[in-house]
Amino acid sequence: MENPELGQLAKVIRQEWLCTPGDKAARYVGKFFDTTYRGSKIIGRVVGNHGTYIVSIQLDGNKLDSTCSCYIGKHGYCHHVNALAVTFLKDPGIFKEIETRQWEDVRGLDDLKAYLDGMTLEDLLKQLKSKGITAKSAAEAMGMSPQKLGAIKRSELRNRHFNELGATKLACLWILEHFGR
Ligand SMILES: [Zn+2]
Repeated sequence: MENPELGQLAKVIRQEWLCTPGDKAARYVGKFFDTTYRGSKIIGRVVGNHGTYIVSIQLDGNKLDSTCSCYIGKHGYCHHVNALAVTFLKDPGIFKEIETRQWEDVRGLDDLKAYLDGMTLEDLLKQLKSKGITAKSAAEAMGMSPQKLGAIKRSELRNRHFNELGATKLACLWILEHFGR
């Protein structure tokens, strides 16, 4: 594997996990689409019994962290995660790097979506915090409870996306732009 971060991910998966798919996982192997990576995190989508699931595996230090949007996959280790790992080890080339777009390159609404997808709400809240703006005060400014903002943030990290996610990111960007100086 050419990419060192993905090489490390593959190494840890081989060390830590049984890399033969179980019966339930086998039918998802090779069925992933929109397969991407950023750093040492791989992401794929797969059609399951109840819709399309977003499945991801990443390195957290030297440990594996995985999650899936299916009903049992919040903390990973479901058969979709198993299948994603096997798919990745078999054919790492299908995972394409997510290009991060710069603000200067945003020309239209399609670019804006890609730009927002390129950052997590957690990243944005960290940026706000570094400018002295707490998540609590940001939440209050946008008329949202801090609990709700926290829930939207954590859900994104577990591949469960609130409908308000994009709008919340936009609001954070606006606050950063106008008050984060
Ligand atoms: Zn799953």
